Amino acid sequence: MKALPKFVVLPKWGGGRNEPPPHQWWHAPSKSYNRREYGPTDTIVIHATAGSSSSGAMSVTNAGTASWHWLIPDENEEGHGQYAHRCVADDKKAWHVLRKVYFPRIYQGIALRNPGHTDINSRAYGIEIVNAQTGRDPFSDWQLRITAQIVNYHRSLHPDIGMYLVTHAYLDPGRKLDPGEQFAWERFLQYIREGEAPMPDVDEWAAADVAAVKAEGIMTGYADGTFRGREPVSRQELAVVIARLLTRMAENAPVA
Ligand SMILES: [Zn+2]
Repeated sequence: MKALPKFVVLPKWGGGRNEPPPHQWWHAPSKSYNRREYGPTDTIVIHATAGSSSSGAMSVTNAGTASWHWLIPDENEEGHGQYAHRCVADDKKAWHVLRKVYFPRIYQGIALRNPGHTDINSRAYGIEIVNAQTGRDPFSDWQLRITAQIVNYHRSLHPDIGMYLVTHAYLDPGRKLDPGEQFAWERFLQYIREGEAPMPDVDEWAAADVAAVKAEGIMTGYADGTFRGREPVSRQELAVVIARLLTRMAENAPVA
């Protein structure tokens, strides 16, 4: 199994509040998590268990040494295709990245303001996907899709910030490979994008362009998650859009 070191900054969430995907609680014992000490909660870490069962992973949590917010069942398990396990509440710190892992590239610029910048767990949601990590255990399409749904759920909880999406291998390259090269990262990102804008009120021919201007922050959706794509635009609304576009063009202009 080769490492999968990946890192992207997801754009600010443009839609309304997302519901969490179908899930069942499998509570981690209270000795396996604690309170978040540093904010904001702006990071999502993708892991794979390197084991073949959800219960095997939870036995680690029960021993009080590691934990995660979400656990995604494998193909041969009950729950696969139906629901994810939630293990630690969103507002609590789960323990899935070694505390001494320091990542200036992610928390650059925040370090001076926030002495807890090395405490990735305080700022992160951890998603563990059950996968043997042998190189012969592909991730299922459903595993990718529900993980993407979870990512978008967390983005919708923090709509004012772009969130960091990162693999464990990227954070801790000396020790970790997960989720490994079998994890189809590009397809996963595609599912995240597809879930970004549930816009039933936008026609097919315009959907890609609407998504693009939303991602750039030039036009936004409404708080209820709609875009109201067939409604007319007033002169003042058009002025707002043009002003944002001019600002964006100035920001992107090459510095002389
Ligand atoms: Zn991991």
